[in-house]
Amino acid sequence: MRILLVQPDAPATVGFRTVALPEPLHLEMVAALVPEHDVRILDMRLDNDLEAVLRNFGPQLVAVTALTPEVCAAQQVLQQVKSFSAEIFTVVGGHHATLVPKDFFLPQVDAVALGEAEVMFRELVAAVANRQDLHGVSSIFCRNDDGVFVRNTLSERHVNLGELPLPRRDLTKDYRSEYFFLFDKPDTSVATSRGCPFRCKFCSVHEFYHGSINQMTPARVLAEILAVSSDHITFVDDNFLMNRQREDALADLVKSHGVRKRFSMECRTDSIVRHPELVEKWVNIGLYAVLLGLEGGNDKMLKDVNKSCSLQTNDQAIRILQHNGVIIWGAFIVDPVWTDDDFQQLRDYVSRREITHAQFTILTPLPGTQLYRDRREELLTDDYACFDTLHAVLSTRLPRERFYQNFADLYRQRNLGPYYELVQAGKMTIEDCRRGKAMLDALARWERYAENDPILGHRSGQRTSPLPSFSTR
Ligand code: SF4
Repeated sequence: MRILLVQPDAPATVGFRTVALPEPLHLEMVAALVPEHDVRILDMRLDNDLEAVLRNFGPQLVAVTALTPEVCAAQQVLQQVKSFSAEIFTVVGGHHATLVPKDFFLPQVDAVALGEAEVMFRELVAAVANRQDLHGVSSIFCRNDDGVFVRNTLSERHVNLGELPLPRRDLTKDYRSEYFFLFDKPDTSVATSRGCPFRCKFCSVHEFYHGSINQMTPARVLAEILAVSSDHITFVDDNFLMNRQREDALADLVKSHGVRKRFSMECRTDSIVRHPELVEKWVNIGLYAVLLGLEGGNDKMLKDVNKSCSLQTNDQAIRILQHNGVIIWGAFIVDPVWTDDDFQQLRDYVSRREITHAQFTILTPLPGTQLYRDRREELLTDDYACFDTLHAVLSTRLPRERFYQNFADLYRQRNLGPYYELVQAGKMTIEDCRRGKAMLDALARWERYAENDPILGHRSGQRTSPLPSFSTR
């Protein structure tokens, strides 16, 4: 069967795309599940000619994925597919479809897949290929005889990450040179675990994985690393360095196999503080940058979002990384209730701690989070495109223009000295620096946030998606 997997393009706005364009790893992993079929991946962030692919490839099944800000784009892709041919079977899955499936109970959708693709995709493809009844396929919503979406039994199958086939990165070879992560281009994303035991209020990872954590064996991770051709790898796990034994064994394997690559990873600060020796070990085999979820510049903010971490721990982790010469990409959350003083406090914190790269997002109640359940009634919009964490979907205490001016100002780079030091230390090239400067200039323009603001911008009053409600039933 011919299967087309589509990564939709979120609305053009300043956003995460400015600092990273990761490969559609989830689709590459889905493709690997059905090696007996003819599969293609269309990354519409880089190639939006869906019509041409539908005409030339002639898929019989199209599967689309979407994060919350991409919901409207995914709905449009599915609509275009069905308009092209009603015979093509359409399925949507991924994070948002799992957490709010009813957003896809639409005429252009044949099935909504819930949870990890490994538990149902092969079954679904076999049923579609053999024109069988879909009601035997677990973990999907499909239509009953009256055309109403009903949920099939949820699969209880455990996904053994150690046995997963390698992602089909060959299917994105034409795009690969464009994928980047901060200063690293081209970059390859590698996911070595799924899930997180923590319960940060703004995050839905524990909801998606039902609180479970699943980790790949070091041997399976090594096999994937050895198959990667780029010089740079980003571990896109939610929390790397959380399992000392596993990550220690993996470091030994990477070293003993003579792998020479540069690594970036996302970590919690408490993992770093618990195992500084592990940081050192990874630095010796190529770790050079860490994305740290610092979230706030004081304990109150950390407590408010239930980070289960103190400012003291964050400070200790920063010191350990700086001592090891690791570039810190610190991620902070800005609360819409902030005053000018709050912004100033965060600016001071970032500059006192000498955090070279800082990323700021606006506290956003994303579907599937505790924050969403707590604040749903206060949302200013139901337009998912505004839920990109760079627009305030809750009321701001400051006038909105002033809020965005403060927000954009966080990105204004007052001193480029640290970047040139990184160039001198051989950790960045001049070209990296230029790209970084362009990124920061884009992020420091407040008008770009206001353009798509639900109150100030041209998106105000727009109603492209139904009001989200948290329910998987
Ligand atoms: S933000 Fe990170 S630490 Fe917190 S729940 Fe999500 S994945 Fe876990």
